[in-house]
Amino acid sequence: MSPARPRPVLETVPLYAPDPTEVELDLSDNVNLWGVPPAAARALADPLAARPSVYPRSDPRELRVALARYAGVSAAQVVTGCGSDDVIDGALRAFAAPGEKVAYSAPSFSMLVTFARVNGLEPAPVPFRRDGDVDPDALLAERAAVTYVCSPNNPTGTGVSTAALERIVAKAEGLVLVDEAYGEFSGRTSVPLLARAPQLLVTRTLSKAFGLAGLRVGYGLAAPEVVQVLEKVRGPYKVNVLGERAALAALGDDLPWVRRHVEASVAIRERLRVALETLGFRALPSAANFLCVPVPDAAALGRALLGQGIKVRVLRALPGIGDAIRVGVGPWDAMERLLTALREVSR
Ligand code: PMP
Repeated sequence: MSPARPRPVLETVPLYAPDPTEVELDLSDNVNLWGVPPAAARALADPLAARPSVYPRSDPRELRVALARYAGVSAAQVVTGCGSDDVIDGALRAFAAPGEKVAYSAPSFSMLVTFARVNGLEPAPVPFRRDGDVDPDALLAERAAVTYVCSPNNPTGTGVSTAALERIVAKAEGLVLVDEAYGEFSGRTSVPLLARAPQLLVTRTLSKAFGLAGLRVGYGLAAPEVVQVLEKVRGPYKVNVLGERAALAALGDDLPWVRRHVEASVAIRERLRVALETLGFRALPSAANFLCVPVPDAAALGRALLGQGIKVRVLRALPGIGDAIRVGVGPWDAMERLLTALREVSR
């Protein structure tokens, strides 16, 4: 009997394996460092009330309605998933055939390349423009089956201009996937473009501004025809009963909490930028809840910070940037701990 053989392409796919070291202060994954919002926490206080012995609804209608109200679209324009990762993965599978291209501006969300390769697609990276915006014409020139734009971009944090997005949406031949995982922090959204763009999919998540990363609730917004295709590809039951329950609470009573903490993140991010400058670090402009800080040797700095009980994301040799660390923004006392540690390790 021949042994099971993985598809050869998987040899080129790295395992997503973030550093598992437990630390006192984890600034490495851009989650909400203030924690879970209060109404969601109350909804989770009695997990059995969510009836975990039965399947979730295959179509979480109530959640779709709540997400639609939050996003300003109709429920037929909402597809949910196990994190926005799930929606992105399904969208690539649904709208690009093996061998077709996925165009994106590099560097961007690392899982995009993984999902593309795993689905047999060809990642087609193009450079950002010198001003930090995406380059619409370079993306369009790839004539890709899917054009991915991360807005704001991870790991750089940089925002994407409305003009660039409008041009891409107007001219792209295939699906345009705008990843707004950090959209709340930028104050901008491509959702209004949905009205005139039948090939646009906007993905979002409750993992960041909403403080529910561990529950894995993500969603996509698109024309109803696109949503139906994504549902087919995704399969049923991806949002579990606890996730659905907490998400409904968060999208209701927690909205003021979410907005307050988004505002706090933005203010603290800019305060952190200034404080980093006094230490000689120049962060890239950011429209997200994190800062990307170019450094000569990210691995060495990451290790030194781990020694101080702080984890940041180490980014090696980013195209056009070089090494950098990415630090999530949270309560100011956590940022002060980071600054103290940076002072200590830079001495
Ligand atoms: N998009 C971007 C840009 C991200 O940074 C992340 C998470 N790090 C995701 C999508 C996926 O998030 P989730 O699956 O938790 O919704």
